[in-house]
Amino acid sequence: ARKFFVGGNWKCNGTSDDVKKIVSMLNEAEVPPEDVVEVVVSPPYVFLPLVKSLLRSDFGVAAQNCWVRKGGAFTGEISAGMLVNLNIPWVILGHSERRLLLNESNEFVGDKVAYALSQGLKVIACVGETLEQRESGSTMAVVAAQTKSIAERVSNWDDIVLAYEPVWAIGTGKVATPAQAQEVHTELRKWLHDNTGPEVAASVRIIYGGSVNGNNCKELAAQPDVDGFLVGGASLKPEFIDIIEAST
Ligand code: 13P
Repeated sequence: ARKFFVGGNWKCNGTSDDVKKIVSMLNEAEVPPEDVVEVVVSPPYVFLPLVKSLLRSDFGVAAQNCWVRKGGAFTGEISAGMLVNLNIPWVILGHSERRLLLNESNEFVGDKVAYALSQGLKVIACVGETLEQRESGSTMAVVAAQTKSIAERVSNWDDIVLAYEPVWAIGTGKVATPAQAQEVHTELRKWLHDNTGPEVAASVRIIYGGSVNGNNCKELAAQPDVDGFLVGGASLKPEFIDIIEAST
């Protein structure tokens, strides 16, 4: 069985005081044990050491991005090796905000995923279509192309969580219906089956992101191919605890 995975993507939010408050809230929460639900939070880079030092040890920490290869003369970038050096186990790669606002291509994201894995990081790899792409009927073609760029560069999927995040649902309050999420997750699993094999398809966790909150999480979590969530806005609030409990 695939262990339920709940990620909190804090994006570019908060002060060190806010971070301390959120971490206290998380540390005090009673949640299912880590062999039932895996929880990973992703603060901005500059707060990673602070969160790493304060956060309960049964929750993981993720960076929100990293550089595509070894460090060097890349002003403003953070290398995978630096994250490993700080004992940060996870990194989010290919978030739509970076694909769209910073023009990260499928190939670039695929290269990043492969390099981060090679350095020992675990990766939350994001895919998802825009509203225009959905309305033109190309949802599956878009997410398959994004996934293909990863699959072409990676042979071992053990340390990858695939996050399906439709762009039209991110930060909009317009959550995908449970049926819409299940439909794409099923298709993605079928794609993995056909292109990476049945073991990978059966074991890779496919999580949903986009306006997940304390009210809609249970119904989404009940879908057989929704193996967890990547939560933005609601991961900064107490309702994140309800989302962690959504599958239980
Ligand atoms: P929201 O939950 O704020 O819609 O953001 C989702 C997201 O982008 C998580 O990575």
